[in-house]
Amino acid sequence: MDHRGAEIGSLKKNRRPGRGTGAQAVVRQIYDTLDAAYGGEHWHWMPDVARPIDVIAGAVLVQHTNWRNAERALDALREAGALNIDALAAMPEEHLATLVRASGTPSVKARRLRALARTIRDAGGLGAFLVLPPAEMRTRLLATHGIGAESADAIALYAAGKRIFVVDAYTRRVFRRLGHGPAGNGYEHWRAWFESALQGEPVEVFQRYHAWLVLHAKAVCHPAPRCAACPLLAACAHGRALATEASASRR
Ligand code: SF4
Repeated sequence: MDHRGAEIGSLKKNRRPGRGTGAQAVVRQIYDTLDAAYGGEHWHWMPDVARPIDVIAGAVLVQHTNWRNAERALDALREAGALNIDALAAMPEEHLATLVRASGTPSVKARRLRALARTIRDAGGLGAFLVLPPAEMRTRLLATHGIGAESADAIALYAAGKRIFVVDAYTRRVFRRLGHGPAGNGYEHWRAWFESALQGEPVEVFQRYHAWLVLHAKAVCHPAPRCAACPLLAACAHGRALATEASASRR
């Protein structure tokens, strides 16, 4: 899923994390490098989105599409006066589907959006949901139709400000190429690995880190990476191997 969201670009620059040892040192050093490279960018996880309800609805609408289409659907919901938990929970799916058509697969997204709104309504409404303990919030989100771990954690991190690390395909690609990561490759292996390495860091570091990894993977660390332009090249096993191969082939 192409996450964008809370106004990462407008977040205040945070203190640089300390080093620690082992994975902790590596994860924090990479954060430092990415933050130095991208920290001045006015880039948002979801452009022009800041309110929790926008992040929550956007996390469903952006599934399997780009943010431009998700934003058109958000606009339609807003114009219809339906961008709130009570309206989304109560609206017939067919009507909701017509409003979110711009984001693609409207019936699927209407069902998911309504299920998510009902989860939040059943937790006592948006205000009560946002202050749930992180573990309970995750449990409720993961029990919701159509909400996987990545969407649940994006909502918890960017809408509710929980210190939860969002893992996506970009994260895995960049870190595997760098030569780091957990022994297992499951979502929970990655999440636990990052959260352990970032113990004690403020939520803004979690928000910025995910944002910079998405930006980095889109800008430089493509499937065919542009390593010569990469700020992480000196620390990257894959980048160094590619450079060695290129140099050998020129001889
Ligand atoms: S050096 Fe290349 S492979 Fe490594 S992180 Fe940078 S772009 Fe990706």
